[in-house]
Parts: sequence; structure tokens; C-alpha cells
Amino acid sequence: MTSKFETPTPSELSQRTDKIPDNLMHRCPICHQVMTHYQSADKTCPNCGYGFRLTARERVEAITDTFEEIDRDVTIPSRFDDSLYLQKIERAKQATKLNESVLTGFASINRQQCGLAIMDSHFIMGSLGSATGEKLTRLFEAAKQKRVPVVLFAASGGARMQEGMNSLMQMAKVSQAVADFQAAGLAYIVVLTDPTMGGVTASFATQGDVILAEPHAMIGFAGRRVIEQTIKQAPPQDFQRAETLLAHGLIDAIVQRVDLKQTLSQLLQWHQVKEA
Ligand SMILES: [Zn+2]
Repeated sequence: MTSKFETPTPSELSQRTDKIPDNLMHRCPICHQVMTHYQSADKTCPNCGYGFRLTARERVEAITDTFEEIDRDVTIPSRFDDSLYLQKIERAKQATKLNESVLTGFASINRQQCGLAIMDSHFIMGSLGSATGEKLTRLFEAAKQKRVPVVLFAASGGARMQEGMNSLMQMAKVSQAVADFQAAGLAYIVVLTDPTMGGVTASFATQGDVILAEPHAMIGFAGRRVIEQTIKQAPPQDFQRAETLLAHGLIDAIVQRVDLKQTLSQLLQWHQVKEA
């Protein structure tokens, strides 16, 4: 007697799973609520307010009235000729339609003018490479010329390993550009989103005059496992979450995604430079 059900071969199975759309189910990483589709246009969890990861372009759409991109042609220096790395960059460019892990330009948010930088975790985990650092530096320099505030949406796994020491140097480079910008009396507003880690947290992402975060965003330097192995203790459950960092004074406020545009435009209005 033959069985009605024949076990599929591994290759048949993988063909079947390839046909399942990636966006069929979403599980909130914080409260574990499962949803078959995002219940709000801004992709937040209806239960706990967690903001799912957005692309830089989705952020532009959600936050700005107008946006003009700059430095679209900046890409990694030619001294990085490792073919695996170059392939990775190419795939990231194709997938995100960005030239680097940060999108930069000038925007209007509820009619308030500003420089805007949005990191995209879909581009090699928003990692900080030479071209990322160069784009951010150029934005702060251009915004200083125009005398407008800068808003940065941080999302990053940290320094880009493939670039070794060069990626670490971007921390100092961008930090210095931020310091020059602030010394000119201009305001820098940061929104920390899930996740903001490593060298990005340790430099420009926490240099803001005002530091906001999205609910439950993971923000930290070293990852949980590295810390656990080093100190031989389990860190508390709420460790490296926006709420814990707010309670300990690292950030100024947690803002629900639905309120971000209004909050940012209010902060920008207060901090526009009024030329005499
Ligand atoms: Zn949730």
C-alpha cells in the first residue's frame, strides 16, 4: 500500500518555502504579538508600540514634506578591493536603492527646514563605513553653511568590520564634524531607533543636543552575549532598551512613531537660527 502523503525532498521543500512571501507574518520582538499584516501605516505593534524597522525611504515618506538628497555619488574608496566585500556592497545597493548605509539631504518637516540623515539597517546592518562617515561629515558641513539644524535617525549594528581601522576612524571624524556644527550654535537632534549599537552609539548617535528614541528600541555598545561572556553574569531583561536608558538619563524622551513628525517639527521650530 502506498501512502497518500509523500515526504517532500529537501529541494522540493525549499522551493515551496521560497514561494511564501516574506511579509506574510510579523511577530513583535518585544511582546511577541503575531500579526498577519501591519495594522498601521507606520508599522508599529498595536499592543506595545514597538516600531518595526523602516527603510530610509519609508522614513522620508513618513516624516518630511519635501526632501532633497545630496551626495548620491559617494561610495566606498577604491582601496577596498576585496571582492566579497564589493559584492556585499553591490547587493546592499540593489536591495535598498541607496549608495551607502545612510541617506542624507535637506528636508522640510512641517515647514521647518533641516539637514536630515537617515541610517538604514537594510544596508549591511546600517554599519559605519568610510562612505557613511564621509556622507555624514558633508551633511554637517553643508548644514553649518546653511545655518539649519540637523536631524539624524540612527539605526546601526556598529562599525563596518570589512573596513577595519578605517571604520573606527569614522567615529572620530563624524564626532568632530558634529562638534564644529554645535560650536557654531546650531542644534543637532537624534532619534535612536531599533537597533543602535556599537561605534555609532559610542560617537555621533549620542552627541545630540536632544536625544529621542522610539519605544523599546535596542540601544547599546557591546551586544548582550559579549557582555554576558565577559562579566559571567546575565544582564537584566530590560537591559539596553530605550525605557531603561530613559530612566538612567541617557536619552531625553521616548516618542511614539505616530508623534515623531510633530515632535521633531516643534523642536526644530524652537531651534531655528533667527538671523539679525
Ligand atoms: Zn509588541
